[in-house]
Amino acid sequence: MTEPTPDMTGKPRVDYGEHTWLELRELAQRDDLVCVIPAATLEDHGYHLPIDTDVRLVEAITRGAVERFNAHGEAKALLCPTQVHGYTPHHLDFPGSVTLRWNVFVESLLDQGRSLIHHGFDRILIVNGHGSNIPLVNMAARLLNVEHREAVCASSFYLTSEESMGVLQRHRTSGPGGMAHACELETSLYLAIRPDLVQMDRAVTEIPASYTPHVFMDWSDGPLSLMPHWSAITTSGVTGDAAAGTAEKGRIWLEQAQKEIAEFIGEVATRPHAPGVDHH
Ligand SMILES: [Zn+2]
Repeated sequence: MTEPTPDMTGKPRVDYGEHTWLELRELAQRDDLVCVIPAATLEDHGYHLPIDTDVRLVEAITRGAVERFNAHGEAKALLCPTQVHGYTPHHLDFPGSVTLRWNVFVESLLDQGRSLIHHGFDRILIVNGHGSNIPLVNMAARLLNVEHREAVCASSFYLTSEESMGVLQRHRTSGPGGMAHACELETSLYLAIRPDLVQMDRAVTEIPASYTPHVFMDWSDGPLSLMPHWSAITTSGVTGDAAAGTAEKGRIWLEQAQKEIAEFIGEVATRPHAPGVDHH
């Protein structure tokens, strides 16, 4: 079977774009190869975190997951370039945020998927790191499956499996609402990845006063979906307990997130093609 060829350090190359077209033609022969597309957005993350938080976190998680998966499994995965821009019009009150229109975001993912499938890479996992992208990445993966019946296209957030939620719960020190945005979790992860870019002396705790048992954000949100403009619910841009973030917690959660996504890759690599039957 075709293996991704090593880079200068002898490690297998995992980046899709670092291969030649001849190499990709070979790799596409493998039925078990998974293309992983990270998706994120640029938006305000409090006074203390850069606007690239969702991008940097999902890239660190997916890169670690792909390397981990390739080191242990028979199947292989390639890391596609990150879909940096996502859907975040409700953050535009905060300088720096960049949004795509929802349909442009979905179409962008669809065209990337269609191109990959055209070349024979019909196992695709979109790993999303930005809350408001969730329904849109799910829709993009579903539409690819509808268009290409042989394809196995899936989408996920990170740290959402039952096991991961348990690891979050075991180590978190914040109360309800402490893990939503630029929060204990995102601050900790950024501290684990690039501490020099985190201004911890400016980290605040801000939990919106408008939360009710039905409408709230934590790493899993309340049952009633209602998203106003971000500036209506937070002054700093933080929703959560940023001050509770530590690099130590971040390292634990980063490792768990990479392990979780590696398992998701394994699932996408091994699920049977399920084209269904047209009963006409
Ligand atoms: Zn974020």
